[in-house]
Amino acid sequence: MKVVVLGAGIIGISTAWHLLERGHEVTVVERQSDAALETSFANAAQISVSYCEPWANKDAPLKALKWMFRNDAPLLFRPQLPWGEGWQQWRWALQFLAQCNDAAFERNVQQLVALGAYSHDALKDVVRATGIAFHRLERGIAHYYTDPRAFDTAGDAAELMRQYGVARRVVSTAELLKIEPAFASFAHRIVGGTYTASDESGDARVFTQALAQRCSARGAQLLYNHDVLRLEKTGNAIDSVAIHARATDAQGQNDAKTTRLKADAVVVACGSYSAPLLRTVGVDLPIYPGKGYSATFKLRQPGRAPFVSAIDDEVKCAMSRLGDELRVAGTIEVGGYDLSLTTPLARARCKMLAKRVEQVLPGVCDTRLEEEGGNPRFWAGLRPATPTNIPYIGKTRVARLWVNAGHGTLGWTHGAGSGKALAELISGTVPEMAFGFYGVERRRVQLKPQTA
Ligand SMILES: Cc1cc2nc3c(=O)[nH]c(=O)nc-3n(C[C@H](O)[C@H](O)[C@H](O)COP(=O)(O)OP(=O)(O)OC[C@H]3O[C@@H](n4cnc5c(N)ncnc54)[C@H](O)[C@@H]3O)c2cc1C
Repeated sequence: MKVVVLGAGIIGISTAWHLLERGHEVTVVERQSDAALETSFANAAQISVSYCEPWANKDAPLKALKWMFRNDAPLLFRPQLPWGEGWQQWRWALQFLAQCNDAAFERNVQQLVALGAYSHDALKDVVRATGIAFHRLERGIAHYYTDPRAFDTAGDAAELMRQYGVARRVVSTAELLKIEPAFASFAHRIVGGTYTASDESGDARVFTQALAQRCSARGAQLLYNHDVLRLEKTGNAIDSVAIHARATDAQGQNDAKTTRLKADAVVVACGSYSAPLLRTVGVDLPIYPGKGYSATFKLRQPGRAPFVSAIDDEVKCAMSRLGDELRVAGTIEVGGYDLSLTTPLARARCKMLAKRVEQVLPGVCDTRLEEEGGNPRFWAGLRPATPTNIPYIGKTRVARLWVNAGHGTLGWTHGAGSGKALAELISGTVPEMAFGFYGVERRRVQLKPQTA
């Protein structure tokens, strides 16, 4: 089949790779000059099959309310005017609230774990087949707590994960330091933690760009610097995709004509921009941008830097070592498509990340800000968030139109598997996993706990 994939983030490129594996003819359209230059560019680098709890839980509404006026709040709702595009935010928030209960939380965790496990296997297969190096560290993920009350709930969360086959265990501060001695200077604040040895970390951008090159070498056509203008429909079927080359000369001259791509299948994998694009052809999915920030620092003392990737429960950030650098990322802001790094709010959030790294790993990185003579690389990305944190992978009600989007906080973790699953669906088989694919009959999906 001839398949056009829209978007060259981790999801679009993984989809392209797995389609090629199944013998399809693939074209990828991407507005940037390379793959992974938007949300897949500088995330927290965690491949966290086990740390996959959605943000929507029974305590989230009260916490979000308390955090409304804190610039450095882990979860910040920035209300838009409730009409036009702003209405999408309010609708999304209401749907998010509907997920903030124990039953929905457990149902969502179940599916996220299933997709995570399937995806981890798919990632290992791709790495075996391609030999791609991406600063991969197979050293697990540790989650440390500084608040005894928060730590009290860690056991229940670990138990829930174990029910679904994830070996997350509760560890004392002493055990945690044996697993990762780099946190010794912060040990006086740590009250305990959890650890999953099977999780990993690695650079999503490096992986995605390398996989995109492999796709190209296998015959995929990669149309970088091309905007997707619209999806064109005849009756209830996609007829073509209108695309336009971006100006690439210094004067911004652009004589390019709009081109129409025809295909047997079109996959929308445009991250946060998938929802507005799909809405133009009557497919209405609750995918809304959740802005997050990261900071990447050069290591000053590599010998004292962690190898185990970590989650800091107090400020809800994640840290991963990527070669001779440390990446720290976190916070979610639900407030539209703004990617700015210079507003007072954005500055406060970036500074919070730098300050936290210095508190937890004093002297290990060069965390000086630009005004202090440092060279931190701050970045913001828009997580394609759904109220459940479960992505839409499957078939839309418009013939020939497929979707692979809405991966929220877990797109790197779920990337390889989401690509493989959609490639299987397009090829006519439903993957064997406890996951509800979009537009695919649910009776074939069993939602049962795995055995530990
Ligand atoms: C701060 C932060 C930390 C994170 N940490 C982690 C983590 O540790 N682990 C994890 O698993 N996940 C993490 N994530 C989530 C993960 O990064 C995302 O879920 C994932 O990158 C989404 O991939 P995607 O391919 O759907 O979107 P993208 O990477 O955004 O790709 C979509 C592509 O579509 C293109 N596009 C959109 N519209 C058009 C158009 N009209 N025309 C042409 N091209 C278009 C864009 O240019 C883009 O390249 C984090 C995210 C953030 C922001």
